[in-house]
Amino acid sequence: MHKLLSRQIKRHYLCDRMPQDLTPLIQAIGQAYDDFENERALLERSLELVSEELNQRNQELRRKLLQLEDTYNQLGESLAVLDSIFDATGEAILAFDSKSRLIRFNQMAQEILGIEQVKKVYGSNRVMRTFFKILSPEEEFSHELRKLNADPGCLLFGVIALKDRRLFEYHSTPQLNAGQLVGRVWCFRNVTKIKENEALVKYQAFHDSLTELPNRVLLIDRLNHAIKLSNRQKDLLAILFIDLDHFKKVNDTAGHQLGDELLIEVAKRIKGCLREHDTLARFGGDEFVVLLENIKSHRVAAHTCQRINLKLTEPFELDGNLFHISSSIGVSIYPRDDHQPEELIRKADMAMYHAKEKGRGTFEFFDSPLERIAQFQLELENRLRDAFLQQQLTVFYQPQVDTKEFKVRRSEALIRWFPKDGPPISPADFIPVAERAGFIKEIGYWVLEQVCQQISKLKTNGVDDVRMAINLSAQQFADETLVDQIMKLMQKYKVEGQDLELEITESMLLEDLEKVSAQLTQLRKLNISIAIDDFGTGYSSLKYLQKLPIDSIKIDRSFIQELSQNPGNQSIVNAIISLGHNLKLDVVAEGVEDKAIVEFLCFRQCDYIQGYYFYKPMPADELLALLTQQRR
Ligand code: C2E
Ligand code: MG
Ligand code: MG
Repeated sequence: MHKLLSRQIKRHYLCDRMPQDLTPLIQAIGQAYDDFENERALLERSLELVSEELNQRNQELRRKLLQLEDTYNQLGESLAVLDSIFDATGEAILAFDSKSRLIRFNQMAQEILGIEQVKKVYGSNRVMRTFFKILSPEEEFSHELRKLNADPGCLLFGVIALKDRRLFEYHSTPQLNAGQLVGRVWCFRNVTKIKENEALVKYQAFHDSLTELPNRVLLIDRLNHAIKLSNRQKDLLAILFIDLDHFKKVNDTAGHQLGDELLIEVAKRIKGCLREHDTLARFGGDEFVVLLENIKSHRVAAHTCQRINLKLTEPFELDGNLFHISSSIGVSIYPRDDHQPEELIRKADMAMYHAKEKGRGTFEFFDSPLERIAQFQLELENRLRDAFLQQQLTVFYQPQVDTKEFKVRRSEALIRWFPKDGPPISPADFIPVAERAGFIKEIGYWVLEQVCQQISKLKTNGVDDVRMAINLSAQQFADETLVDQIMKLMQKYKVEGQDLELEITESMLLEDLEKVSAQLTQLRKLNISIAIDDFGTGYSSLKYLQKLPIDSIKIDRSFIQELSQNPGNQSIVNAIISLGHNLKLDVVAEGVEDKAIVEFLCFRQCDYIQGYYFYKPMPADELLALLTQQRR
């Protein structure tokens, strides 16, 4: 029986014995007590278990709480870092919610829009309208915003200008959360400096840095545009290719700085001759190109050329000095001459060369025969290069006789080209081609060497009293290494100065006088003679003839050949012979073909005669045979 129940029964009956009839009840109660006691023990046990579990959970929660606190602190720190980055970034950033209300912005945004402005519109959707007020022009950006109405999720990108001239590049990106549009972020970056630099680079790519005029690229662009316009309006265009005459001389004598100043001044003068909408470009050096748009006739171009030529012949005063230049202009016309911009320019350039050849200070229109000539010359140039490499060139010699004994005293070396596949080509045709193509110096050097070899051969055959004349081209004569080259060849072939004569033309004397004089003096020191070829056809000043170390003049064959028919020529030849003798120069007449002229020249005491009447140009071997026979 349950202890508590037995204690109660004892206290109640004060003895161990209790009435018999109560025993089953007491036993049942005793049983109930025991059951209750068991249940209580069970309950206590389960309470213990629950409490243990709760404790564990509690600990778990505390740990999680600590973790959360930690994360919270870390988040706080990151947010602070983000905020400072947000503010420190060079971009202005504005974030909007899905109802276009400004919900966040950084410091830069306040600077662009103005702090007050941003504060005023914070939390509202009027921010963009406020923004418009600082834009230039105001409407341009609203067009972009309209795109958002049509497609709220689109990306926007572009550049806008502010009224204070600053330029901003913007990016606008939608903010999505699980595919839902929750807002939009606008970033604005100040690109004023970058755009300015870009504009500068672009400007430099299209302009000449000295004169600030458009360059070739920009001119071609404008020409393309003008051609389209001209097709619609059915009018003409003209390209004027202007090249300054004698500009190199200014550069050489006055220096590059004054040369540059002159070019700037030239650009101003040409501009003064043009209409507002004409384009003047500089192609570098002393080349300028004009595009005349919207013209009704070629005459407009011709008048413009005249005006420019006239304006550029007026002296230029720079740094207290007066400079005289002139210009040669070539003109091509659209659509007559070509349809392609590059070709129109090339044809104007070609016409300019023609103008230069005709005489400086003039202008020429392009015409097709000109192109045919250029084409022919190009072919000739290529053939000549091949011929030179394949040793198809040779040197002939034309003897000159004295007028006393008619003995051969001198001989002129004349280059010959006998192509394998065609008739001989005259040096009068191919020498200018080699000059223009820039390989006359190589040819000239080759002739010099051939002649030195020939002299050496003559000497070994006992002929040492015949002087060999060699024609020099202007480029060869201007070459500073010429004297050196000749000296080396003289040493190599044991040639003396008195064995050689160099023929130059009057026009070569007109170049830089100091250089010419220095070159001639050096040649004179080597004992080499100098002859002025084709005398009477150039513009040489008599002063030069007297001042410079010159030995002979060769009367041009045009005067000689018409001697018998043209009494005027007789006076000229007379005058040249007297002039030569007065200046103590030998006089040679070339192109003498008949006896009457020989008699005339002997009577006038011309010193030497060169011409078919005596000898035609002959191969080296024939000359050797002739001279060895004469010696005998
Ligand atoms: P040039 O120096 O005035 O040479 C004289 C030209 O007159 C030569 O023509 C010669 O053959 C020609 N000639 C001589 N006597 C008579 C004559 O009685 N009647 C006629 N009708 N012609 C005569 P070529 O050989 O055709 O040379 C032409 C020009 O080519 C030369 O004129 C010279 O300026 C140039 N040249 C020739 N060889 C050379 C050279 O090696 N170097 C350079 N730079 N030029 C050369
Ligand atoms: Mg000659
Ligand atoms: Mg001549």
